[in-house]
Amino acid sequence: MKRGNLRLGIDLDGVVADFNSGWIERYNRDFGADLAVEQIVEWDAPTRLTHFSGMREFWNWSRTCGEGRSLFRHLHPYADALESLHRLRRRGHKIVILTTKPNFAVHDTFAWLADNEVPTTEVHILDDKTCVDCDVYLDDADHNLAALSTAHPDATICRFVRPWNSPASGLVDVHGWTAFLDLFD
Ligand SMILES: [Mg+2]
Repeated sequence: MKRGNLRLGIDLDGVVADFNSGWIERYNRDFGADLAVEQIVEWDAPTRLTHFSGMREFWNWSRTCGEGRSLFRHLHPYADALESLHRLRRRGHKIVILTTKPNFAVHDTFAWLADNEVPTTEVHILDDKTCVDCDVYLDDADHNLAALSTAHPDATICRFVRPWNSPASGLVDVHGWTAFLDLFD
């Protein structure tokens, strides 16, 4: 790939922010459970692993489970994620954040980006990520990856390999942040 000036469309949850350890930590605390992140091997895992009757109940709890704010306010960043974004930024690439969030988490998302000093000046909180043109996309959700590769055949669509996503033709599989950085060497 060329060395600078690329627009990198970067997802947050499951890629930069550790959504799963965040909800599991708080779920265990609030309900005396003993779940472990390793148990998460599918999309919408809370429906199978928790006592909630469905994702609607889960999202309802998540509105305030983050110490009075939403779950998204205090998520831990994944190891190497922030440093990798800074490196890409220093190499001249533009970090474009593409993230889907419930409405109640919009301000917590901006606060989280600021707290963690994510090197971006362009943030899109949206459902359909295909609306935003980028040269490279990095995501962990099968439905986003499929939509992006259909809508942007000339872009490089990277699957951040996780237990809850699957290989598909046209995707570049990335096993961690070091591997993602290697794409730009
Ligand atoms: Mg994600």
